[in-house]
Amino acid sequence: MGVRLIIMGPPGVGKGTQGEFLAERFGVPRLSTGDMIRAALHAGTPLGERVRVYYEAGELVPDEVVLGLIAEAFDGSEASGGFVLDGFPRTIAQADGLGELLADRGLELDAVLSLEAPEEELVDRISGRRVCGSCGLVTHVRAVGEDAACPDCGAALVQRSDDRAETVRNRLAVYRAQTEPLLAYYARAATGLTAVDGTGTLEAVRDRLFETLRLAEMAG
Ligand code: AMP
Repeated sequence: MGVRLIIMGPPGVGKGTQGEFLAERFGVPRLSTGDMIRAALHAGTPLGERVRVYYEAGELVPDEVVLGLIAEAFDGSEASGGFVLDGFPRTIAQADGLGELLADRGLELDAVLSLEAPEEELVDRISGRRVCGSCGLVTHVRAVGEDAACPDCGAALVQRSDDRAETVRNRLAVYRAQTEPLLAYYARAATGLTAVDGTGTLEAVRDRLFETLRLAEMAG
């Protein structure tokens, strides 16, 4: 059976990119509640409309909404062989809910990883982040320049609506207040918490994560 991982950390630390590397490495899906919410927003579903004000303000959407999304994903065939959770859980109530979802299905987590980077670096990474509206590439103005087209497919690069400077500070404050307490929560839990330095190149962080999991005898 595949692995069950959580990748945690503040906005902009690289959870999405590194979560994808881990998912590929272990052949499991990356379950990102942020991506699920953005898909609902873009599709204009009732769920999307319900959470829009929270999302645009950089606030957390209600716990029951994300727990519902995760329960649905767990019960789909895609996640039956394991998963990498990215951006979930973000509150103690979500972590408790996740514990119940796992226990009900007789499942356990293999590792909870916490990526860390200094706040100035997070603000810089988020405010310069650009995403391709067509192929989904995530890049940075430093890599492509301002107003560039997507280097992969040529479509327009855009800024996520919650990546604007005024929202970024609030997202970091929300993280400190509501999500950071989860680090102690998981450190006390049976799985434990593994902190990993999230600074440096994408490849350096990826290799650090792989090495950490190898030392934990998961990556073989
Ligand atoms: P992310 O892409 O993970 O940075 O998430 C972007 C936004 O989606 C957050 O600022 C929240 O508004 C919402 N969101 C994503 N995951 C969660 C979650 N687990 N709990 C509450 N809100 C979430």
